[in-house]
Amino acid sequence: MKPILPGAVIGVLGSGQLGRMFAIAARRMGYRVATYSPDQDTPTGQVADTEVAASYDDLDEVRKFARSVSAVTFEFENVPAPTAAACAEFAPVRPAGSVLHTTQQRIREKTFLRTNGLPVANFRIVRDETDLAGFTGILKTADFGYDGKGQVRVQDPAEAIAAWDSIGRAEAVFEEFIDFDCELSVVAARSCTGDFVHYGVVENRHRNHILDLTIAPAPVPARTVADAVEIARTVLEKLDVVGVLCVEFFYTKQGRLLINELAPRPHNSGHFTFDANVTSQFEQQLRAVCGLPLGSTNQLSPAAMVNLLGDVWENGDPNWQAALADRDVKLHLYGKPDARKGRKMGHITAMAPTAAEAAEKALRARDRLL
Ligand code: AMP
Repeated sequence: MKPILPGAVIGVLGSGQLGRMFAIAARRMGYRVATYSPDQDTPTGQVADTEVAASYDDLDEVRKFARSVSAVTFEFENVPAPTAAACAEFAPVRPAGSVLHTTQQRIREKTFLRTNGLPVANFRIVRDETDLAGFTGILKTADFGYDGKGQVRVQDPAEAIAAWDSIGRAEAVFEEFIDFDCELSVVAARSCTGDFVHYGVVENRHRNHILDLTIAPAPVPARTVADAVEIARTVLEKLDVVGVLCVEFFYTKQGRLLINELAPRPHNSGHFTFDANVTSQFEQQLRAVCGLPLGSTNQLSPAAMVNLLGDVWENGDPNWQAALADRDVKLHLYGKPDARKGRKMGHITAMAPTAAEAAEKALRARDRLL
């Protein structure tokens, strides 16, 4: 395959912060960026060369967009399959629409993982009431909700039908509850020649189902790191990913890794790579999509990342100067106009001699904002 070289236009489906950071990386390397989503003045659009505001279902507009770019990638994995297919008529889509198809629906994703012998929590597919009988755990709609939406905990089998009612009796996955020690993830990339690189294993702490803190690297044994990376390698190979993919894990109290879910794009838990690594996850996505050699994932310093949600604006404008008083702290804001509660507005990365100190620094910097 002929590489797509600097100067070319790369199309991004979706227009949030992941696209914005991708666009920053792409423009730094002399590429042009076009973004497509239903919205205007978006985090990606503010950085891209062109911004198309149209529906994902408007396939005439989608085709026009695809004709104007050298390759299409996405930052939003709920792009409808016909949209990806329409793009593919005119430009390579990386990762391919088939990767989206598998990972945008829990039943297909879990079935893919189980069929390939990859470790997942025990689960049942729920299509009618009989599938609910005699089981407890977490009932999750097959179509991905965001940040814990479309999920109900079922502690007593007698509550299962009411729980299913509460998610609209939609097709679902009923998953065993995992009493995990912590949550981990691996962000990895694969090139069109099958080259594989990864950013190691990081620990993720959530608040209200939203990622709050990433600690890189995670404080886990070398054996666990090797196993998690091998699992990630298998996932990217079996899905034939050309691009970046994140594997999220539960790490059980018994030291077992279970895959929670896959995201076929740069991930919030890889944002620290923008500041702490030789090649960020966003530049890596660009290199993979363009058919260039992948860059070094070497991490130059232990790091941690905390998300800044709209809540940080609760008492008026945050005190940015105070947060930046620590020289090892980096601030990223996504250019979103309205700071709604729970909305991801930006993040802070901190570097320190150890990952635990970096986490302390990042958390303290965020506290100083208020
Ligand atoms: P998900 O949307 O599936 O990533 O779930 C969001 C969060 O809910 C996870 O990051 C976990 O903190 C929690 N969670 C989801 N599934 C389970 C499970 N089977 N056992 C325990 N906690 C879970």
